[in-house]
Amino acid sequence: MSSLIVAMDGPSGTGKSTVSKRLARRLGAAYLDTGAMYRVATLHALRAGADLTDPAAIAAATASLPWSIGTDPEVEDIRLAGEDVREIIRGGEVTGAVSAVSAVPAVRRALVAAQQRIGRDAGHIVVEGRDIGTVVFPDADVKIYLTASAEARAQRRNRQNIAEGRGDDYEAVLAAVQRRDHLDSTRAVSPLRAADDAVVVDTSDMDIDEVIAALAAVVAEQT
Ligand code: C5P
Repeated sequence: MSSLIVAMDGPSGTGKSTVSKRLARRLGAAYLDTGAMYRVATLHALRAGADLTDPAAIAAATASLPWSIGTDPEVEDIRLAGEDVREIIRGGEVTGAVSAVSAVPAVRRALVAAQQRIGRDAGHIVVEGRDIGTVVFPDADVKIYLTASAEARAQRRNRQNIAEGRGDDYEAVLAAVQRRDHLDSTRAVSPLRAADDAVVVDTSDMDIDEVIAALAAVVAEQT
């Protein structure tokens, strides 16, 4: 196969990033984290002091975005004007603001075009996000929608926070998960939803190895 595009969509906390990277390695494919691109745009808008309640201000602040992103599933490489921003884009400030920035049509148009270019150039690639099977690559060879209950996702995120020394507050994590789900699935532009032809995999009661095995079977079946 000269090209293989696997679209991997779903809400946060389903294990989507870990699973997407491992699947890419297993397929010998590249990997693109489109959420990181929206996070970089958000960091840029925050640093420019843009009013995040004003879509026109966000669009203006992100009109020229000097970012770069690598596609090697082994090496995370995300930069803004050459600066390594891997950590800062996962922090609370960016996470709290990213839904507002990613709801702006001009931001989505620019990033979707970049994602399509990166995907085409890569040949074989696993692309992870929210609208990959619906908007970015509607003709993807394989479309997977990973989901899990809000409670299962909040439990995973809270365990991760504890392990990484960021405290233990399950109720707050659950509220944040529900808030982001609501914002992402009710926005006017490209709301989070499964493509009609996506295979839906519920990971609530599966560990990572089980999820990988299930997805590898889906890819083998559909290609
Ligand atoms: O996947 P991650 O949690 O890093 O994504 C951060 C945010 O970026 C999401 O909550 C969503 O608002 C936005 N996003 C998006 N479309 C994508 C990927 C992410 O709107 N394809």
